[in-house]
Amino acid sequence: MGKVKGFMEYQRALPADREPLERIQDWQEFHLEMPAGELQKQGARCMDCGTPYCHTGFMLSGMTSGCPIHNLIPEWNDYIYKGFWHEAYDRLMKTNNFPEFTGRVCPAPCEGSCVLGIIEPAVTIKNIEYSIIEHAFAEGWVEPKKIAKRTLKRVAVVGSGPAGLACADQLNKAGHSVTVFERDDRFGGLMMYGIPNMKLDKLQVVERRINLMKAEGVTFTESTTVGVDYPSDKLLEEFDAVVLCTGATKPRDLAAEGREFTGIHFAMDFLRSSTKALLDGTAPVLSAAGKNVVVIGGGDTGTDCVASSLRQGCKSVLQLEIMPKPPLEREASNPWPEWPKTFKVDYGQEEAAELQGEDPRHYSMMTKKFLSDEKGALKAVEVSRVEWVKNEGRFAPMPVPGTEQILEADLVLLAMGFIGPEEHLLQQLQVVQDERSNIRATEKTYLTNREKIFAAGDARRGQSLVVWAIHEGRGAARECDRFLMGATSLP
Ligand SMILES: Cc1cc2nc3c(=O)[nH]c(=O)nc-3n(C[C@H](O)[C@H](O)[C@H](O)COP(=O)(O)OP(=O)(O)OC[C@H]3O[C@@H](n4cnc5c(N)ncnc54)[C@H](O)[C@@H]3O)c2cc1C
Ligand code: SF4
Repeated sequence: MGKVKGFMEYQRALPADREPLERIQDWQEFHLEMPAGELQKQGARCMDCGTPYCHTGFMLSGMTSGCPIHNLIPEWNDYIYKGFWHEAYDRLMKTNNFPEFTGRVCPAPCEGSCVLGIIEPAVTIKNIEYSIIEHAFAEGWVEPKKIAKRTLKRVAVVGSGPAGLACADQLNKAGHSVTVFERDDRFGGLMMYGIPNMKLDKLQVVERRINLMKAEGVTFTESTTVGVDYPSDKLLEEFDAVVLCTGATKPRDLAAEGREFTGIHFAMDFLRSSTKALLDGTAPVLSAAGKNVVVIGGGDTGTDCVASSLRQGCKSVLQLEIMPKPPLEREASNPWPEWPKTFKVDYGQEEAAELQGEDPRHYSMMTKKFLSDEKGALKAVEVSRVEWVKNEGRFAPMPVPGTEQILEADLVLLAMGFIGPEEHLLQQLQVVQDERSNIRATEKTYLTNREKIFAAGDARRGQSLVVWAIHEGRGAARECDRFLMGATSLP
């Protein structure tokens, strides 16, 4: 294990982020690296628990508890404490195809369930993961590997998000010839055109991995929508198996009066336009520059909209959340090892608070209607406070009379989550969907109702996390390999 009394001797510490007012001037990543000596102390805090809840990875009270890909966390914490970086890297790669993605964007359910977290702040697992993989890249240890034996089996993976990439990587390692089809002009799914560059660098991080996979033999086909540019019948004829990793990208809309006014957009349209403009070196199709922006939705997507609006030079930005403000500490109803439902300040809110003098979030706030000028251009949003009242056993938001307010707004971004996968291709392939409209396939087999068609990632489990998408991609690859070869040695 790490140092026997390390958790008593050392405090949890993370490297400082770039200063908010400095970092909103550009789109570069905002995390800085921790010096190796300090990281060693953080590894020393790990207690090598008999039951390490950090790597359990299951759903508890509807939230993720522990690492869904079962990273061998205590082992690499110990290696970092002892300074054995290559051994730590080897352990990390046993369970995670892309630690450079999760080390940057994962909300770290491993830390939420860390046993040390019961009495002290948890081990800094995510930052250690990030440091190990970036150290490995810097040392030149991450190189394309030669595939020992090819099987002559052909697999099509539809969608290049983390699920599709993990699936393709695993199937390629098993010797199959894999083609990844992507309708966008760049690969990575929501890691390319959803999560903004300052959280996950597109050229230096996402494309670095795509290039490695290409060098290892995976074929990537961009700007090709399967079911439109590439007929689905042809796909079934030409490939021995197909894995659908098409995501769950249908956004939830807001049925409020005035929704049709110009200036109201889905968050993903804004974020996509922002990253595309950055990468193409053009002006964004949808810009927040000089505008009063209201983001509706208090989750991660909303935070990314706040941070992107600030970088585009918005006049002001607010974020509305219908739920009440979470408590500062865990409540009795939310015990360890559940994900702690506590108040957190993410990077976008930190930046807005520095610039505007206060946290941009307004809690328990419902949008009542949109107001426009005579030409139908958005001018304001009418909101009201809500109270959460129990009704037939379920809590529902009730507007509080007399709390109505008018908020000036030229741009509203709807970031209220996603309702499931797009259906066009699924209908063509006659793939059955479940009651939540996700592709019906169990987590054991990942097989749909159609022979040789598998499904993984958000398309199967609903909008989730990068780490779950990697878990699903690996699982679908294992089952696809079993289907193709009669047996599998993939984990
Ligand atoms: C704005 C935003 C921020 C997020 N931030 C985080 C975060 O910080 N941390 C985190 O863990 N998770 C985050 N998530 C969630 C995470 O990005 C997703 O859970 C994850 O990307 C899902 O991976 P996937 O591979 O299943 O699908 P996706 O990433 O959605 O990829 C699906 C791909 O399939 C392609 N596709 C669809 N249909 C076709 C077709 N017919 N032919 C060809 N290609 C097709 C799409 O273009 C897309 O590229 C965020 C999500 C959003 C929207
Ligand atoms: S739960 Fe925390 S302290 Fe225990 S092994 Fe995992 S990281 Fe270390």
